[in-house]
Amino acid sequence: MKFETVIGLEVHVELSTQTKLFCSCKNSFGANPNTLVCPVCLGMPGVLPVVNKEAIEKHIMAALAVGCRIPEHSKFDRKNYFYPDMPKNFQTSQYDLPLALGGSLEINLPDGEKKVIGITRIHLEEDTGKSKHAGETGSIVESDYTLLDYNRAGVPLLEIVSEPDMRTPEEAYQYLNELKKILVWLGVSDCKMEQGSLRCDANISIRPEGQEEFGVKAEIKNMNSFRSVRSALLYEEKRQREVIESGGRIIQETRGWEEDRGITVSMRSKEEAHDYRYFPEPDLPPMVVDKEWIERAKQKLPELPGERKLRFAAEYGLPEYDSGILNLSRSISDFFEEAAKLSGDPKQTSNWLMGDILKYLNQNELEIHETRLKPEALAEMINLIKKDVISGKIGKDLIEELLKNGGNPEEIVEKRGWKQISSGDDLLPVIKQVVDDNPKVLTQYLEGKESVKGFFVGQVMKKTAGKANPALVGKMMDEELERRKNNR
Ligand code: ADP
Ligand code: ZN
Ligand code: MG
Repeated sequence: MKFETVIGLEVHVELSTQTKLFCSCKNSFGANPNTLVCPVCLGMPGVLPVVNKEAIEKHIMAALAVGCRIPEHSKFDRKNYFYPDMPKNFQTSQYDLPLALGGSLEINLPDGEKKVIGITRIHLEEDTGKSKHAGETGSIVESDYTLLDYNRAGVPLLEIVSEPDMRTPEEAYQYLNELKKILVWLGVSDCKMEQGSLRCDANISIRPEGQEEFGVKAEIKNMNSFRSVRSALLYEEKRQREVIESGGRIIQETRGWEEDRGITVSMRSKEEAHDYRYFPEPDLPPMVVDKEWIERAKQKLPELPGERKLRFAAEYGLPEYDSGILNLSRSISDFFEEAAKLSGDPKQTSNWLMGDILKYLNQNELEIHETRLKPEALAEMINLIKKDVISGKIGKDLIEELLKNGGNPEEIVEKRGWKQISSGDDLLPVIKQVVDDNPKVLTQYLEGKESVKGFFVGQVMKKTAGKANPALVGKMMDEELERRKNNR
């Protein structure tokens, strides 16, 4: 039997606000345990929450960017459960009246096609603290005690729930990449899965092809990268098929991904599901977001990657391919725009960014603003090449130097002696030398094999450490070889 896979994702992202959602504790990652806490986020009796406006604004921004509707009325609810990393014994979240409903995200498929994935809702809630089960692994008691860090308790968290619109693990992978790209672009979250500022639960079911009704789903947790999400889903769709093909039945359950073993294992079934007994949060008034507020938020929304891609192509005459690559990240896109204006040559600016610079960033896992390269320096370097002060080959060394150590291109060229040799008087002796040193190649040339000229030019570039002006070398080499032919 042929099966179709159905996937829906629940993604949590921490908002990068200055302070937590309901108190003025700092919202930051990596501080010493329990140094960013107060009576409110520790759930002491008698304290009252105050909503962080920055969190609401970032929520609205994210919602608008993916085309969600912002209902005028929304509210917070208490989701009740007991867990040591949640000091209040309830999580302040949003249940039936979230701040954002009904958006979508366009993803790219490997075959070049595009597909729209629906977003059901985006709601705001507080994050929990972190538990660390300590003690010696391998001892009789695997974890002797548990450490609790409440720095994360109360950090604003968006939950973005997709429609069950994805049909392959690859689509889920693309959806995650696209979602991250937009959220980072907006500056609402850094979306670092390895630091837990983005987390994903994946729901997956299968159904016989042609059947309208969805199959019973499993929810998969504990993936720590987008690749793991894709692997876990690939494993799970195969597992579910095999269960059904061997006459079994899928049960609704939560399964955990075990990265080392490459499998999912059952964590709990539906019977053990929590009954959260949601009720409206009595300590917070319902929220009213009026039309003017939404209008203001729309005005403040930055140009989005899709729009900017079109503008770059139109305004700078860039190929669509270039424009797409440059707009994969906001930082590269901003950098390009500044450097292109300064250099006056958008295409060269794009070439350097897409080539040597992106390669360096990927190899070193850096963002462009984490290097020492400045847009002014890239622009200046491009002009040094155009004015024949340095060769393109030297440009490659120069860009690496600028990425690593920064500085002023002209000064570096001066100091390193990287100026291009553009004087015939300086080049002629080298050219003669190279021809004299390679009599066999010269014979080949004289016998009519003109392609060996490239070899001679290459030798000159080598001898001058890439500093010779290649166009001039080419022209002078032609003249020299012509002379040798006539003097035969
Ligand atoms: P639950 O009540 O179990 O939390 P929801 O209806 O809230 O389920 O959906 C949670 C997520 O699971 C959503 O992203 C949704 O798209 C996805 N989902 C729902 N039903 C299915 C299904 N049958 N197969 C795959 N994904 C599903
Ligand atoms: Zn606090
Ligand atoms: Mg749900």
